[in-house]
Amino acid sequence: MLTVTNLSFSYKKADVLKDISFQLKPGENLAVIGESGSGKSTLLKLLYGEYDLDTGQITWKDHEILGPKFNLVTGPGFMKYVAQEFDLMPYTSVSENIGTFLSNFYPEAKQQRITELLEVVELTELAHTKVKLLSGGQKQRVALARALAKQPEILLLDEPFSHIDNFKKQSLRRSLFRYLKEKNITCIVATHDKDDVISYANTMIVLHEAKIVANDTPEALYTKPNNKLIASFFGEYNDIDGELVYANQLKVVERSNLKATVKQSYYNGKHYLIEAELNGKTIFFEYSNKIKPQTELHLSIERKHATL
Ligand code: ADP
Ligand code: MG
Repeated sequence: MLTVTNLSFSYKKADVLKDISFQLKPGENLAVIGESGSGKSTLLKLLYGEYDLDTGQITWKDHEILGPKFNLVTGPGFMKYVAQEFDLMPYTSVSENIGTFLSNFYPEAKQQRITELLEVVELTELAHTKVKLLSGGQKQRVALARALAKQPEILLLDEPFSHIDNFKKQSLRRSLFRYLKEKNITCIVATHDKDDVISYANTMIVLHEAKIVANDTPEALYTKPNNKLIASFFGEYNDIDGELVYANQLKVVERSNLKATVKQSYYNGKHYLIEAELNGKTIFFEYSNKIKPQTELHLSIERKHATL
């Protein structure tokens, strides 16, 4: 179990994180979300022992994670951390970078491990290419594979797919998270992308103004977002008389007391996002077709059919 108890931390005066407590079971996937500047990266760095805590404690099993005051070498051996800015060796190949931390004593085992990891991050074809020649997204994948090389018990990932294009993102996510589950690797992912979270996280914590404002399963938080920050993380939403309603939960019906006037339609692949006016306020709902501006229609809130 990873246990964080009453953690507080500040770089200067103001607390970046205050009184943070949570637990995570081995093999689980925890997503840390929050706006830019909310302290996601700082939390990962503290878990890795990069700074000393102002108050509180971090433990993994029987081991306390301590900062530089108590530790010469940052980062306990059972943990790996892939930072937002990854540093690789530019003039050596993808394979050599992945193998950096692997022993040369068993060259065959080493090569086998590298081959396996190249597959996980889908870089087999670039095995012998110098890292210098790779795109940002490819480098990010090398950094991921290198962190996995000596199988860690805990993997900390800071915006792990931020440089990876949409063509690759979906399959890489599936491949990486499946691998982590198979190997029972505990994983903490800081992200602002709901697609990193929804299908993969066991729990998510939401950071806001130095505190954890929510800690639950993605499903529970999606179904009942207790504030606008959480709703906006999951998608386009409306505030209808104080009720948070996603755009996909508003349906066009024959009659209702929600009468809206269409302003504009935006195509977004699966459907159109319709911008409309309801009681003088702008709202959004999803619809299969484009709708003419000024069309008047009725809407109803249908939560049961909510899908992401
Ligand atoms: P996030 O990853 O959620 O965007 P960060 O953890 O990077 O947030 O930053 C949290 C806050 O701490 C921000 O206000 C940021 O400006 C500040 N901060 C981050 N790193 C440092 C640092 N090395 N020194 C001083 N302040 C920092
Ligand atoms: Mg960050």
